[in-house]
Amino acid sequence: MNIILLGPPGAGKGTQARALCDEYGLMQLSTGDMLREAKKSQSEIGKRAASIMAKGELVTDDVVIALIANKITEKEDAQGFIFDGFPRTLNQADALEELLLTTGQSLDHVIELFVDDSKLIERIVGRFSCTNCGELYHKLTKPPKDERSCDICGSTESFNFRQDDNEDSLKTRLLAYYRDTSPLIGFYHAKRILRKIDGLGSIDDIQQDIKNLVDPDF
Ligand code: AMP
Repeated sequence: MNIILLGPPGAGKGTQARALCDEYGLMQLSTGDMLREAKKSQSEIGKRAASIMAKGELVTDDVVIALIANKITEKEDAQGFIFDGFPRTLNQADALEELLLTTGQSLDHVIELFVDDSKLIERIVGRFSCTNCGELYHKLTKPPKDERSCDICGSTESFNFRQDDNEDSLKTRLLAYYRDTSPLIGFYHAKRILRKIDGLGSIDDIQQDIKNLVDPDF
């Protein structure tokens, strides 16, 4: 099963992708995570992407398509993929279709998580993640049980706040979403694989709504 989660920054794509991976044995492919890893390791791609990401602009299609192509061809034991933050342009969507086709796969669901713009800033500014396992938290809606350690891996290393999770960068990221990514909604609607889910409920309720869509017998 291959799923795309579509939605503006702060819609909850990463949180839902992680939960669905555990549930269905899927592999999460987040180009944002891959680029942050590249930045951390000071690779050539990471160095080039860093300033673009900090401003909230889009990294060029060839870079992200190459990152995804590597992962799709190595696939390992996953039952399929959840794409989170990819594709973000029509060009990327075409490339993904081609890549899946050449590896004998197809897209099963594209799920649009819609959230009112006014809510996105609250979500973005309060969020952070475990430096060790990447578990996502929010200071108001999902704080760790013990503020010094991660609920999932118990790490007391530290929590990580993203450099681009600020109001200025969010403006640019939203603009990029509406200009470059939202045309994908029409694109996948025309292919009859687009489903819409209200991204404003609790994490558990949204997860259940997604499960009802992808696995109605669940
Ligand atoms: P995300 O973690 O998905 O919010 O992505 C963080 C940043 O990485 C974005 O604001 C972009 O600068 C860059 N990025 C991630 N995925 C893509 C993509 N598919 N195409 C272009 N840029 C991307």
